[in-house]
Amino acid sequence: MNEFWEAKVKLRWAELADSYDVVVIGGGGHGLSTAYHLALRHGITKVAVIEKSYIGGGNSGRNTTVIRANYGIPEAVRFYQRSLELYENLEAETDRWIMHRVGGNWWLVHTEAGRRTEQARAAVNQAFGAKTDFVEPEVIAREIPGINMNPLGQFPVMGASLHHGGATARHDRVNWALAEGAMRAGVDIVQDVEVTGINTSGGKVVGVETTAGPIATETVVSAVGGHATRMADMVGVRLPIRTHPLQAFVTNHYERKFDPIIASADLGFYVSQTARGEMLGGAHIDPEPSYSRRAGHHFVNSIARNMVALFPFMSGLRVLRQWTGTCDMSPDYTPVMGVTPVNGFLITTGWGTWGFKAIPAGGEAMAQLIATGETPELIAPFALDRFARDRTLADRSSSGTH
Ligand SMILES: Cc1cc2nc3c(=O)[nH]c(=O)nc-3n(C[C@H](O)[C@H](O)[C@H](O)COP(=O)(O)OP(=O)(O)OC[C@H]3O[C@@H](n4cnc5c(N)ncnc54)[C@H](O)[C@@H]3O)c2cc1C
Repeated sequence: MNEFWEAKVKLRWAELADSYDVVVIGGGGHGLSTAYHLALRHGITKVAVIEKSYIGGGNSGRNTTVIRANYGIPEAVRFYQRSLELYENLEAETDRWIMHRVGGNWWLVHTEAGRRTEQARAAVNQAFGAKTDFVEPEVIAREIPGINMNPLGQFPVMGASLHHGGATARHDRVNWALAEGAMRAGVDIVQDVEVTGINTSGGKVVGVETTAGPIATETVVSAVGGHATRMADMVGVRLPIRTHPLQAFVTNHYERKFDPIIASADLGFYVSQTARGEMLGGAHIDPEPSYSRRAGHHFVNSIARNMVALFPFMSGLRVLRQWTGTCDMSPDYTPVMGVTPVNGFLITTGWGTWGFKAIPAGGEAMAQLIATGETPELIAPFALDRFARDRTLADRSSSGTH
């Protein structure tokens, strides 16, 4: 955060106490949102958020900021729709400008099979509360600035699902707004402190070990993004998560306004415009699991041709910056939230390439679980034991680039 924002957003860093009611590990969006909701919705303020680097320094400050609820299964549509609605109110609630902007999310199709898939998505979305319509090519040609309706001669644009609520918000500001709100309510947030161990006794959590010393607590929330399996290892819980790098880039300033958020699974990329006018692009995860955050030429190279084919104006732009995050991928492309076999060890993981949009609803639900001891209905389907119960929630095509 620069000095200007230090002055605007009143973040007050704490000293760690010896014990807390709840210790949240990870100062990304999900950890901060859990602490925020614990304090503001349930009055639970003896809470510490422990971040090994800086808040938002993980995926929550590295994503492409797309917020949407156009998922393919009822459980996910309901959950993400709740998050979308919380985002709409987050500026008013936190009194902080998170640069929330609704631009509509268009998922283009280039085949007959794609048309059927997106028509089905629109129907499921509408049935479970998200506003999505299937639109024909003439609407796309009229509404999307600068689009080539027949890219590469092989991918005619044959329609799209248009998710009207598709939006973006500035990621850092979301993190800071939640951190500031939680701090103001009395939550302790510390940076540059790593959790190195979790202590248990008789199958229950009794504390954590950190680089700043031990802390007693009976409730630990693991919200560590791509490090979820290493954290769960500390208490002997195996998670069905693999960590994969995900890359993104921005171009220099494009002088025209470009409101929509566009994705094409067949062309393998998505793109939107930032408030600064940069074109912001992403694709799917790197195929090999890794904790590496190295950004590579192969990524831009792999999608540049298709991007320029669909949006010829992009050939005049230059890649300005490129970066990488480490994503906690679940096998069914659906989050994993809630309790584990170790009493007091809770997880919020499996956020993969799609967890920024889930930050408000994820934190709200985790806080409710901690405060009441009951798993909220909204997240009950996302429980870890779904894999053992053969109740996985396959939703791969909703990642936008599949
Ligand atoms: C390039 C990219 C583009 C993306 N685009 C989108 C998008 O457009 N829309 C969308 O919805 N999602 C998107 N995502 C996914 C989204 O960013 C993540 O799912 C989300 O931010 C996860 O939040 P989190 O709080 O779980 O994890 P993180 O933000 O990664 O936070 C975890 C934190 O835990 C800390 N930590 C780890 N281990 C320890 C430890 N031992 N002790 C203390 N702290 C620890 C880390 O330092 C980190 O700050 C994207 C991700 C990437 C990488």
